[in-house]
Amino acid sequence: MSTAVAMPDPIVNALTIDVEDYFQVSAFADHIPRSDWERQPCRIEHNIEGVLALLDEADVRATFFTLGWVAERYPELVRRIAEAGHEIGSHGFAHYRATEQEEREFLADVSLAKAVLEDVCGSEVKGYRAPSFSVGPANPWAFRCIAQAGYRYSSSLYPIRHDHYGVPDAPRFAHRVEPTLLEVPVATVRLFSANWPAGGGGYFRLLPYGLSCWSLRRINAVDGKPAMFYFHPWEIDPDQPRVDGVSAKTRFRHYLNLGRMKSRLQRLLKDFQWDRADRVFLGKDG
Ligand SMILES: [Zn+2]
Repeated sequence: MSTAVAMPDPIVNALTIDVEDYFQVSAFADHIPRSDWERQPCRIEHNIEGVLALLDEADVRATFFTLGWVAERYPELVRRIAEAGHEIGSHGFAHYRATEQEEREFLADVSLAKAVLEDVCGSEVKGYRAPSFSVGPANPWAFRCIAQAGYRYSSSLYPIRHDHYGVPDAPRFAHRVEPTLLEVPVATVRLFSANWPAGGGGYFRLLPYGLSCWSLRRINAVDGKPAMFYFHPWEIDPDQPRVDGVSAKTRFRHYLNLGRMKSRLQRLLKDFQWDRADRVFLGKDG
């Protein structure tokens, strides 16, 4: 008689990429106005190629929350992402935070981004991520707008305390926020009666890899839930042009450990199971 105990299938986590260029991040918004975006040296094509190669090497499919602005200028790039089997999601049109918009402006932005992205990739865009996780108590209408625009899930909350975003008392895992809309917050780990960031972004570059890895394992093993993880294409690009005049804090957050990011992601892709967010959270058929 075999004594082998059947191991449960490992939890599959959601890997997501916010498709924006280095000069479009919220922290640089005061230094590079949108009217200057056209004139910036673009790195997005080069960096997306790098991300696609990383994913291909690890045989992982992911979700790319893409700006409508990027899709309008680089439609071939967006089609290449989709043709490689990845999910195209929406990151809004021009990276306006929901907190900078009125309800009808926000609805117009999320609707326009969805239409542009669907036109380019030729399939339904089901997921939306607000720039800088800007959905929260300041805009109780935001989820209604996202649902009204036709999205089926959102990943726009980061349940942590942070100086630019975060709703520390929001639910940590996928929950229904409108009858037709699921919110999937970015991963956090619960320790000492507080939520700590575990879902990527700057923290993944700033903190030791072992800590990120421990946090994600704890979410899978203790909470028994899939984690929502994210990064940006510019984070694997140590050669990106430097933006002048930004504060020391912004400089630290944006540029630290860019040269180490690629090898960290390679480890992360190997150490956990990953898939597109629609398949992880909306079921096998998305
Ligand atoms: Zn963004």
